[in-house]
Amino acid sequence: MRLNGKVALVTGANSGIGQAIAKRFAEEGAHVAVNYLAGGSRDEAAKETVGSLATEGMGAPADVSKRADVESMVNSILQKFGRIDIVVNNAGVEVKKPFVDITDEDWQFVLGVNLTGAFVVAQTVVRQLLKQGGGGKVINISSVHEDVPFPGYAPYCTSKGGMRMLMRNMALELAPSGINVNNIAPGAIATPINQAVLNDPVAAANAISEIPWGRFGKPEDVAAVAVFLASDEAGYVTGSTYYVDGGLVQQVTKY
Ligand code: NAD
Repeated sequence: MRLNGKVALVTGANSGIGQAIAKRFAEEGAHVAVNYLAGGSRDEAAKETVGSLATEGMGAPADVSKRADVESMVNSILQKFGRIDIVVNNAGVEVKKPFVDITDEDWQFVLGVNLTGAFVVAQTVVRQLLKQGGGGKVINISSVHEDVPFPGYAPYCTSKGGMRMLMRNMALELAPSGINVNNIAPGAIATPINQAVLNDPVAAANAISEIPWGRFGKPEDVAAVAVFLASDEAGYVTGSTYYVDGGLVQQVTKY
C-alpha cells in the first residue's frame, strides 16, 4: 500500500476521474475526503463514493470557487482526521462557445471553478501543510489543453494554461518546505464531461482516430499516475506536467 495512513482531499470526487482517484487512493491505504458540489444527484453519488472506499472516508461538500466553503471543508477534514497530506484539484467545468459569443458569466464560471478553485483549495491546504510540517503533495488535474489550444473552448484552455503556471510557481516556492506540486494532463477520458461525444458514434470515432493508442482513456489510467505522484516514491518529482493521453499531444496532423 503506497499511501498508508495518509489523508487526501480530492475535489469533484463524486464522478469521473476524481471518483477513480478517490477509490484508488483508498485502495492504497489513504483516508479520502470526497469533495462534491452539493445538490441533486451529486449528493447521492458522493455518498455512494464514500461508501465504496476501502478505508474510512468522508463526504466534503464545498463549491471550490468559494473561499468560505473551502475553508470550512478543510476544517471539517481536520476535525475528522486531524491532518491532511495530499490534495488533488480535480473539479472542473467547461463551456463550449465561439470566442465572440462568450459572456462574462461563462468566463467567470469556468475560470472560477477550474483556476480560482485550484488556487483557493491549494492555498488553504498548503497553509495547513506548512503548519503541520513534513511536506505534502499537491496534484492538479489540468488537461492536454493546458498547452494545446482547442477552438470553442477559450475559457477552458485559459483556465488549464493558468493551472500550468500556478503549479510551476507553487513548485518553486514550496520546494524548501518539501511540498511536491505537479499536474496531470489527461487527454480524452471516458467520463460524464465527454458524454455528448461518447453518445455520438461518429464523433466518438473521429475522436478515437486522433488518439494513437486507439481508445479513450479510462479514469483509472489517470488515477494510476495520481497514486504515484501522491506517494513517497515521487519525493523528488516537482514542477512538471504528466500527460495521460494515449499519445494524443504527439499526434501528427494527418494530411
Ligand atoms: P466530470 O464532469 O465527471 O467531473 C468534474 C467534477 O467536478 C464533477 O464531480 C463536478 O461535480 C465537479 N465540480 C464542478 N464544479 C464544481 C465546484 N464548483 N465545486 C466542486 N466540484 C465541482 O468530468 P471528469 O472528466 O472526471 O473531469 C475531472 C477533471 O479532469 C476536470 O478538471 C476536467 O477538466 C479534467 N479533464 C478531463 C478530461 C476528459 O476527457 N474527461 C480531459 C482533460 C482534463
